[in-house]
Amino acid sequence: MVILGIIEKMLNGIEVKLNYNYFEHKKELDNLAKKIVFTGPIDEYYNYQFGELEYRSVRFETEILNMENYQGNAVVNYTDYEIPYTRVIEHKHFEFGTQPKTVISKEYSDKWTKEKEPYYPINDEKNNSLYEKYKKLAENDSKVVFGGRLGEYKYYDMDKVILQALECVSKEL
Ligand SMILES: Cc1cc2nc3c(=O)[nH]c(=O)nc-3n(C[C@H](O)[C@H](O)[C@H](O)COP(=O)(O)OP(=O)(O)OC[C@H]3O[C@@H](n4cnc5c(N)ncnc54)[C@H](O)[C@@H]3O)c2cc1C
Repeated sequence: MVILGIIEKMLNGIEVKLNYNYFEHKKELDNLAKKIVFTGPIDEYYNYQFGELEYRSVRFETEILNMENYQGNAVVNYTDYEIPYTRVIEHKHFEFGTQPKTVISKEYSDKWTKEKEPYYPINDEKNNSLYEKYKKLAENDSKVVFGGRLGEYKYYDMDKVILQALECVSKEL
C-alpha cells in the first residue's frame, strides 16, 4: 500500500495520456516542456539514421490448468537445451491464490521483428557500437533525457532502472 501512495503522489496534478505515441504527437509534446524524458527506443528517436538496433523478443503461451497447483512457485527458470521455454510463471503464487484451477504462462525466446515488443537488447559488439553512435547524438541533445532499457539500450532489472531514474532526477533538478 505504501507503493500505491508513492505512485498516487507522483501522478498528482499530472496529465496522463495513455496509448499516445510520442512520434505521432511529437510537435505538440515537444512544445509542452523545456525538457523531454524519452524511454522509447533511441534508434527510433533518431529515425534509425545509423541503422536499427536489435532485440530478442519473448512469446508467452498461457494456459488454464484444471489443477490447484502446477509447480508450487511463482517462477521456475529452465536452462536445459531440450526444454523449448525458458521460464514458467504460475500467477496465483504471487498472491498466495487458493483457487481450484491455476493459470501458467510459458515463456519462449523469440526472434524480434519491428511489430513485436523489443524485450531484451542484444548487447553484442555490433549493437553496442551502433548504440554508441546514437549515444553521441543524445549527449549533444540538451532537450532530451534518454532513460531506461530502450533509451539506453541496456538490460535493466526493476531495482536498477528505478535507481537510474532517481539518479537522473538528482542530476537534472
Ligand atoms: C519478460 C521480462 C521479464 C522481466 N522480469 C523481471 C524480473 O523478474 N525482475 C526485475 O527486476 N526485472 C524484470 N524485467 C525487467 C523490467 O521489466 C525492466 O527493468 C523495466 O520494466 C524497465 O523499465 P523502463 O522504464 O526502462 O522500460 P519499460 O517499463 O518498458 O517502459 C518504457 C515505456 O516507454 C513507452 N514507450 C516506448 N516508445 C514509446 C513511444 N513512441 N511513445 C510513447 N511511449 C513509448 C512504453 O510504452 C513503455 O511504457 C523483466 C523484463 C522483461 C522484458
